[in-house]
Amino acid sequence: MLDFSQSPLLVIWEVTQACDLACVHCRASAMPGRSSDELSTEEGYRLLDQVKAFGEAKGFGSPLFVFTGGDPLKRPDLYELIRYSVKLGLRTNVTPSSTPLLTASAIDRFKECGVTRMAISVDGADAVTHDAFRQVPGSFDRCVMALKHAQKIGLDTQFQTTVTRRNMHQLDRIADLVGEVGSKMWSLFFLIVTGRALAGDDLDAAQYEEVFAKMYDISQRVSFDIKTTEAMHYRRYIIERQKAERRADEAPHADHGAAERVAFRTAGVSDGRGFVFVSHKGEVFPSGFLALSAGNVRRDSLVDVYRNSQLFQMLRDPHLREGKCGACEYVHVCGGSRSRAYALTGDYLAEDPRCVYQPKHYAPEPVHA
Ligand code: SF4
Repeated sequence: MLDFSQSPLLVIWEVTQACDLACVHCRASAMPGRSSDELSTEEGYRLLDQVKAFGEAKGFGSPLFVFTGGDPLKRPDLYELIRYSVKLGLRTNVTPSSTPLLTASAIDRFKECGVTRMAISVDGADAVTHDAFRQVPGSFDRCVMALKHAQKIGLDTQFQTTVTRRNMHQLDRIADLVGEVGSKMWSLFFLIVTGRALAGDDLDAAQYEEVFAKMYDISQRVSFDIKTTEAMHYRRYIIERQKAERRADEAPHADHGAAERVAFRTAGVSDGRGFVFVSHKGEVFPSGFLALSAGNVRRDSLVDVYRNSQLFQMLRDPHLREGKCGACEYVHVCGGSRSRAYALTGDYLAEDPRCVYQPKHYAPEPVHA
């Protein structure tokens, strides 16, 4: 078990913001061309050395390392960087975009370089829904080709879906597709209204519960794992749901399936706690959706910023949560999305505005006219 005050579970490096897609909800507001200010190959190597150092200090396991973008395939040195990461012994994932750069031979090279898992974003059960998100015809077919090719050559995949009002009613069909292409993990992202993300696509708090119920039900019938990003309150949903099921049926439940397998492996992980994001310019953010910089890997040690910066320490301290989240009995396993609190209220310590839960001992502040 990692001590999240010392080491993250996951380090994500946005190697570039360049991408040939123009997705309606893009976190990075990506552009086709690369920035001249991206970290260089040498700076990338140094960053990877720092990630390795997390694991070395006190015998902690090394974090999982993810190359993301933009589209990582826009960088010609991507394969060298992947090889270096693998040589250091880091479990290495890559999240390419579904563009013509994502060919069968590019996927073969990922496998040859030692990539642990390739993540592909699919935001609908069919081409009409997905391609409307991605704003590029043919993108859905390319995703399915990539996932099936990886399956054929024995490269593990992660299937990623951003949940919005556009696709929330397609989750059963999308889950069937995840099973069909043999992905090991279905990772559901919940919108943070930032970048190109559109406020009208965001779910309200009641819709979150609806989606959680659907995810939980799906988790009981599938063999792949399901995890959420920026919906930490799914963990609270699972606990409450299981309590209710135990009341209804006192017989012990041997296995609740994928729901808790992942939810509790990642219990307590949130922005800045178990998670760190390095931007294409080297800025160290608590998450890709919370663009507050605590340092820059060009001048600062990533390990030092993660462990000792005031921002990361405040984000990790459950006693500093405000509103409902501060009073909530689930603060240690959930704590709410700090990115969403910041995007919607301007205060990263505020309660998560998309949670319906009323903590048992919480009395909201009276509103004065
Ligand atoms: S009130 Fe906050 S800490 Fe409690 S379940 Fe909701 S989001 Fe999580």
